[in-house]
Amino acid sequence: MARSLLLDGMPLAFVDLETTGANPVRDRITEIGIVEVVEDGSVSEWSTLVNPETPIPGFIQSMTGISDAMVADAPTFECLAAEVIERLQGRLFIAHNARFDYGFLKNEFRRIGIDFRATVLCTVKLSRRLFPGYPSHGLDALIARHGLTVYDRHRALGDARLIHQFWHLARAAHPEERIAAVLKELTARPSLPTHLDPGIVDDLPEGPGVYLFHGETALLYVGKAKHLKERVLSHFSGDHSSAKEMSLAQQVRRIEWIETGGETGALLREAALIKQHQPTHNRQLRRNMELCAIRLVDHGMGLATPEIVHARDLDFGRQNGLYGLFKHRREAEQVLIDLADAHGLCHGLLGLEKVATGKPCFAHQLHKCKGACVGKEKPAAHTVRLVQALAKLQLKSWPFSGPAMLKEGDDVLVIDHWCYLGTAKSEDELWALLEQGRPQFDRDTYRILSKVANRLVPLGIRG
Ligand SMILES: [Zn+2]
Repeated sequence: MARSLLLDGMPLAFVDLETTGANPVRDRITEIGIVEVVEDGSVSEWSTLVNPETPIPGFIQSMTGISDAMVADAPTFECLAAEVIERLQGRLFIAHNARFDYGFLKNEFRRIGIDFRATVLCTVKLSRRLFPGYPSHGLDALIARHGLTVYDRHRALGDARLIHQFWHLARAAHPEERIAAVLKELTARPSLPTHLDPGIVDDLPEGPGVYLFHGETALLYVGKAKHLKERVLSHFSGDHSSAKEMSLAQQVRRIEWIETGGETGALLREAALIKQHQPTHNRQLRRNMELCAIRLVDHGMGLATPEIVHARDLDFGRQNGLYGLFKHRREAEQVLIDLADAHGLCHGLLGLEKVATGKPCFAHQLHKCKGACVGKEKPAAHTVRLVQALAKLQLKSWPFSGPAMLKEGDDVLVIDHWCYLGTAKSEDELWALLEQGRPQFDRDTYRILSKVANRLVPLGIRG
């Protein structure tokens, strides 16, 4: 079989780091291990302890076995930077959960004013692609699944050797063409338009959030994503589904993003930002001044008839027994007509037709109305059928006496009577949001929140 040009002679660096914690901005590197494979295929190994210039938390000392005393006399990252660059430069950077190791190295280099970039291959992603069907692709899972030989687990070189072993095993288990295609896909650097900072590709977070595309002068687009990096880059992938999307990608000059603790937070932020800024490329979510709902008016003797009410006149967040929601009165009326026809309800009683008392409505003459207008059906029976017909449209009542919160990751979303007050990261921020007051009831926000109503927790404050 022909050897792939991409794989043969490609210099590789299998990298693993030990650190003082999981946060690449705050935490520091304590050990670097690199297994290098150069053009002629020869392998060399290198590892060094690094003085992190900060104490190592106890639980990490016991996991890695690297203590404060061990790193006290080790060189700092700054002293090692030139050597690290030399070992990584021009090589494919391969690591398990590569975003972690690459992120830590980038930050260590950034601290000393070096903009470090590499082509990165993540072996978690590689494992997922080549061995799908397994639930876990952590290093321990790979050791167990493939019988990798463990040497110094949780030390940098020990783990780098495991990745190197996995690489050989993965290559042996699949045809060369398949490996080459997966590698090409996993290492492809998305091409951003030249007027955008290429560093964005590395900086974009992989979690949920909202992103803002700014043009020369105006905000063009606000979107939400489960996975910010993937979603943002997809806008520039080149396989645009429409001319409109293509034109958006060409107009973007600056990209901004807000990370959220989860999807609900992203959806709420997105809806709020679109209403606030009306970006030119978003489907317009207008502040809906015509927003309507239906409520039932009780006339006594078992008779109730529908009435269309506007959110501008009535606080929908505080009303019970509403059905909806409708963009405008016309939509509410059309829904009533459709329900009447589907259930044989009386157009006269529903207020869809002006009918003199005791006279049949037009629908009855067409045998569509079961005849509540002419006494063939008792008012109470008609009311029961009307309530049944409307049941699916009933709006959820706000289940608490005051505001509530929804926790998503580190975020606390503050909600009051189906209105989103904002996201708090601390108790002070939470109080500030509660003092701001409540925005107008809004259909998009209600829809997002009503789906997660069972996750709301009351704040125990009178609203
Ligand atoms: Zn009728």
